[in-house]
Amino acid sequence: MPSRPGLRLRFAPELRFLLAVRHRREDEVLVPHDDTFTLGHVVQSLGVPLTEVGELTAGGRTVRPSHRPRGEEAVSVSPVRRPQDPQSVPHGAPPSFVLDVHLGALARRLRLLGLDAAYRNDMSDQALVEQAGAEHRLLLTQDRGLLQRRALWLGAYVRGARPDAQLLDVLDRFAPPLAPWTRCMACNGPLTPVPKGEIAGQLPPGTRRTYRTFVRCRDCGRLYWRGAHSGRLEETVAAARAAVSDAARSTSRDTPRGGPAVP
Ligand SMILES: [Zn+2]
Repeated sequence: MPSRPGLRLRFAPELRFLLAVRHRREDEVLVPHDDTFTLGHVVQSLGVPLTEVGELTAGGRTVRPSHRPRGEEAVSVSPVRRPQDPQSVPHGAPPSFVLDVHLGALARRLRLLGLDAAYRNDMSDQALVEQAGAEHRLLLTQDRGLLQRRALWLGAYVRGARPDAQLLDVLDRFAPPLAPWTRCMACNGPLTPVPKGEIAGQLPPGTRRTYRTFVRCRDCGRLYWRGAHSGRLEETVAAARAAVSDAARSTSRDTPRGGPAVP
């Protein structure tokens, strides 16, 4: 079937950084359109994963990504509303995450806040997609191709070059409930209190004298205490609490909450 010009796509400013450089400054992206393709396919082929898309309209009405545009339709593409609908997570539980191999520093920060963040530095793309599906984890990545995999259960593109900015982006997007200091930053295991007497022999003398409250990772056995070196971590926790409370305030302003585009 011959292609023909005709599809005009207007991307919200929040999504334009995902487009090819030549399209980022365009108010409308014009694409030759072959009507065997769905709108979702066209949007993703321009670089914007559907995980990042909220409402899609074509010819002025809301459509699903499976919509097949005909003729010269004007399309608008909006970002996922923030915070993203927690109903996309089973049983109303806090979202749990799996992070791709480049986001280890972000994984440690999420764990510091008590969020369930699976991460290993040797996972293949295929293994990440499988783990996300099997354990109903949201895949966090900066790899657009990974987010476009058909088998992916749910995912999100993480904005920001540095881990602190990435953390604020995830908190702003999902506004998850926080439980700082309850999860092991090294392995993601839960932390449980441990009597000082039980571990005194493992502590440096200064620590033994100064601190009274200790927790231990149930999975790897690592010991934690909130000590002299945790100032930066305390700052991260404080910034995270502020970010989540800001995101929650915007929820009450903007009901109903929007979910991701469903193909
Ligand atoms: Zn651990």
